[in-house]
Amino acid sequence: MLEKYYPYEYARNVFAIDYKKLYAQGFRGLIFDIDNTLVHHGEPSTERVDKLFLYLKKIGFKTILLTNNDENRVQLFIKNIDTDYICDADKPSPEAYLKALEKLGLPKEQTVSLGDQMFIDIVGANCVGIPTILVHYVKAPGEIWLGFKRYIEMAVMLVYRLRPKYTHRLGNIIKRGKRK
Ligand SMILES: [Mg+2]
Repeated sequence: MLEKYYPYEYARNVFAIDYKKLYAQGFRGLIFDIDNTLVHHGEPSTERVDKLFLYLKKIGFKTILLTNNDENRVQLFIKNIDTDYICDADKPSPEAYLKALEKLGLPKEQTVSLGDQMFIDIVGANCVGIPTILVHYVKAPGEIWLGFKRYIEMAVMLVYRLRPKYTHRLGNIIKRGKRK
């Protein structure tokens, strides 16, 4: 019953993923949520994120940003990044993900979707059959308040971690050791 909320993998942030290993497995497209996945909600991109997108392109990945936020938000974020995007996406609607696949020109089997919200990013992509990575949400410095949904997510993650059939379904793609 909870399976549709289970990500294929969990990462402490988008930088902790070994994208070369994903590419070696045959993945060619990456769908990214923006807010609290790549940067804190509403903020422009950072140098580190800009570099990540250059790196992904160098590896050979096609990327697309998929956000429920609007065009203005994307434009603020995307300044130094060359990537396709869909705004006002209406996630977790499956149509949002089908549209992203269509824009990427890739089948779901060659695409990975990354986001910070289990009940939006993960369930939406899972419904379409796109492999998913749940990324720990980006916090603002000093932020301690957690929304109610985050507690529910944590509870589901506790159950998920006890189900080896569902964890690490993309193999050994998490870089260990570094906390940043
Ligand atoms: Mg988000």
